[in-house]
Amino acid sequence: MRDQFEVRSWDAAGRLGDLTVPRAGVTVRTPALMPVINPNLQTVAPGRLDDEFGAEILITNSYIVYTTDDLRERAEEQGLHELLDFDGAIVTDSGSFQLAEYGEIDVTTEEIVRFQREIGSDVATPVDVPTPPDASREQTREELATTEQALADAARVDTGEMLVNAPVQGSTHPDLREQSARTAAASGHDVFPIGAAVPLLNDYRYADLVEMVVAAKRGLGADCPVHLFGAGHPMMLALAVAAGCDLFDSAAYALYARDGRYLTVAGTRALDEIEAFPCSCAVCADHTPADLRGRDDERRERLLAEHNLHVTFAEMRRIRDAIRRGRLLELVERRARGHPGLLDGYRTLLDHVEQLERTEPAAGDSFFYVSAESARRPAVRRHHERLQELATPDRLLCSEYDEPTHHSYDAVWRLRPPFGPFPRALASTYPLTATVPEQTDTAAERAAAAGVAALADANPETQITVGHDDWAAPALAALPDRVETEHLGDLDWE
Ligand SMILES: [Zn+2]
Repeated sequence: MRDQFEVRSWDAAGRLGDLTVPRAGVTVRTPALMPVINPNLQTVAPGRLDDEFGAEILITNSYIVYTTDDLRERAEEQGLHELLDFDGAIVTDSGSFQLAEYGEIDVTTEEIVRFQREIGSDVATPVDVPTPPDASREQTREELATTEQALADAARVDTGEMLVNAPVQGSTHPDLREQSARTAAASGHDVFPIGAAVPLLNDYRYADLVEMVVAAKRGLGADCPVHLFGAGHPMMLALAVAAGCDLFDSAAYALYARDGRYLTVAGTRALDEIEAFPCSCAVCADHTPADLRGRDDERRERLLAEHNLHVTFAEMRRIRDAIRRGRLLELVERRARGHPGLLDGYRTLLDHVEQLERTEPAAGDSFFYVSAESARRPAVRRHHERLQELATPDRLLCSEYDEPTHHSYDAVWRLRPPFGPFPRALASTYPLTATVPEQTDTAAERAAAAGVAALADANPETQITVGHDDWAAPALAALPDRVETEHLGDLDWE
């Protein structure tokens, strides 16, 4: 076990955790948002982030400090915490971004990691190579070798109590991501940023993003804290947390504010097009959009950045609350309705239900069935697996309605989309206490049919009859041939 990260509870692959940052003397509650601070351009003063926004951790760029004489002198003299006036944990990036942008930088991993320790960073980063999405396998492999070398170089530096990031690269090649993650996990470093996600985020390629995260997670142990580098838009945080990410960095709050853009959990709006703010943060409560448009550029940018931070931190609190209650996927389903790309991302996550189910909790608040995607949730799959362990009689009726008065079956089980069959005694256990709509859908019926199939597979001797209420043809077709069906109108209900 990595003793600096403790998972307290799970929901799908999302988790509530405690990240202990020994050098800062703080424990950060995850999932957590790290505002990005540009040491040259502080849109919102870091000193306010803790009290006013609840930030426990932030991230800044050590390469900018290293290459700016004045900042460098002050950082070496006072330390980063005093320079930024922030008592929480400070993560520093290394210049990898500049390397990707400009092709070369003037510092080695050993130099920059040593420098990060000197200026008092709490989590340092080596100079990895962020290979962009869609790069060739050849380029990706070559650059991975450089990243692996950087991890090894960082391991040779005396880092004391400072934690060290081990970035995971691999472009959009899932097998290379997984391989990079395995190397990172074995490096002896502490925190695992998944790199080069920004181009995917900018293009709403959430399905590819999920594939990237899921592949990295396969290579990382459950005890590895994962940072999705460059991700901080509130609309996608719930999805990324459900895929297993713990740390996020938001530069979006400041960058978007500079362009007059207003963040919401359902996407980005232009300030110019908003008539009334759909938010109750301090900025939106005290100002109208017209007020903000009337302010000078600097003031408008700062107020917009403050709103952007408030809405992002609020979403992070909502996510933590949802995990606590076992309702994270319901939050993801709501967010997925905000953008077709997010819906693709969520559907892609559910393609990996087997991976999600490994950490799915056995209990939670009532399961709410709120979309066709609900039928594919890990709790449904978990029920299907348990069905294979239940003892069945010779002749079994699985019925959507109450037990018929007269019948010749040995037992009558409930049949409930999307879960499928279960003995009536289990009806009051999670997730079978689910709230489902009166008007069910084909996805739920198909999932229930898959449950019947799992039961039939495990009990080849049992003769199973399904009593259904007008199931759609695809659901009936998903039942094994040997299962008999009765339309409920044909049974004796008196
Ligand atoms: Zn607001």
